Amino acid sequence: MTTDGTSDDRLGRHQLALDRRMLALAIAEAEEGLDGGGIPIGAVLADGDTVLGAGHNQRMQLGSVIRHGETDALENAGRLPATTYARTTMYTTLSPCSMCTGAILLYGIPRVVIGENETFLGAEDHLRANGVEVVNLASERCVELMRTFIADHPELWNEDIGEP
Ligand SMILES: [Zn+2]
Repeated sequence: MTTDGTSDDRLGRHQLALDRRMLALAIAEAEEGLDGGGIPIGAVLADGDTVLGAGHNQRMQLGSVIRHGETDALENAGRLPATTYARTTMYTTLSPCSMCTGAILLYGIPRVVIGENETFLGAEDHLRANGVEVVNLASERCVELMRTFIADHPELWNEDIGEP
């Protein structure tokens, strides 16, 4: 392997370790949401290893129709300049829906790391088509959280994703 290849490899391992650490924070948000009687989806907006905002789905807790994990994290991060968003990664336990994909594109967030897309496949193709890097960490814990919740509360999940 070339010197460049080795250093790319090291960079890749560092990035993966950081991504797993941030996803763990998003999972903790999802678990907090579940404990509060909510839908277990959490998200973290981060600039490198700095958390700018964390949140979770607030449909049940706040009766909110727009605070999904990602939008709650964005709201909790507060108003940020475009130059900051341009450096961020959105970590989310679940593949982002159309609404959250729209928010990610609107603010120019260039990278999205998801926990899983087995229980719900969001608008990942739309993100990729707009130049956003999408990484799936295929977390078993994320799948388990959603599988259990959907089996227990199918009506709440359908409401959250606008299904009859
Ligand atoms: Zn959403």
